[in-house]
Amino acid sequence: MQILDTITRAAEGFAAHGKHPFTSAVILAGGMGSRMKQNGGSQTTKQFLSLGGEAVILRTVRMFEECPDIDEIILVVREEEKSLYSPMLAHAEMHKVKKIVTGGKTRQDSAFAGLLATSRESEFIAIHDGARPLILPDQISAVAKEAYRIGAAAAASPAKDTVKLTDGPGYVESTPDRSRVWMAATPQIFKTEEYRAAVYLGKEKKIAVTDDCSLVEAIGFPVKMVDVGYQNLKITTPEDLYFAEAILRLRAGKAPGGTSDAGV
Ligand code: C5P
Repeated sequence: MQILDTITRAAEGFAAHGKHPFTSAVILAGGMGSRMKQNGGSQTTKQFLSLGGEAVILRTVRMFEECPDIDEIILVVREEEKSLYSPMLAHAEMHKVKKIVTGGKTRQDSAFAGLLATSRESEFIAIHDGARPLILPDQISAVAKEAYRIGAAAAASPAKDTVKLTDGPGYVESTPDRSRVWMAATPQIFKTEEYRAAVYLGKEKKIAVTDDCSLVEAIGFPVKMVDVGYQNLKITTPEDLYFAEAILRLRAGKAPGGTSDAGV
């Protein structure tokens, strides 16, 4: 594939010159967090819940702010919460946040809004769930390095459980070989042009996806899984906040037992 060779050569060129391509991060915080039931009656979504003394979304943004491979950050938020962000980010001195835009009905719509807000110089785009505050700057860089080399890469972890594919009512249809199953997470980082092509094709063909790799896979580009260990939780249900707090204590050396897999 000629286009693949071009991408690979360009990426190798960047690596050889020791300078990274301009990389935009799109952080998605436009969801309702409806599975965070303890939050049911409140107006505040999970983005603003406190984790280790700071808002979940602030911790997430800080990891990208501190990653040397990230040049700009686009934050995608709920319209109702938009006014809360600027003062919070200014106070926390998050200088890489260039735009705060309103998300859409689905995650896919929100990612599209983020793509549209990236600057013209964007060569690579990192899409990340705002609800994954435990990613570390080194891990973002590890995924970026693979994306610069190949064109597309995602933070992931090898499956611990055996995965079953079922029909609608829950009867097992097949069991994939566990040694080849990965749990895909974020950030997912792509050559911006490649991602844009995938997004527009997805729109044309009305492909609905729950992660961005699926779009890129659909147009036949290779995507590399990068093992970031098991700590990159997505804060989805109330117990996730307890697990996340425990991981922070483990990282700080304040929890008994276990080893940290926070490194890559
Ligand atoms: O719903 P899901 O767990 O897949 O959401 C993952 C991330 O996408 C969350 O950080 C959420 O805020 C974001 N999202 C969004 N816009 C939506 C739905 C989800 O930005 N409409």
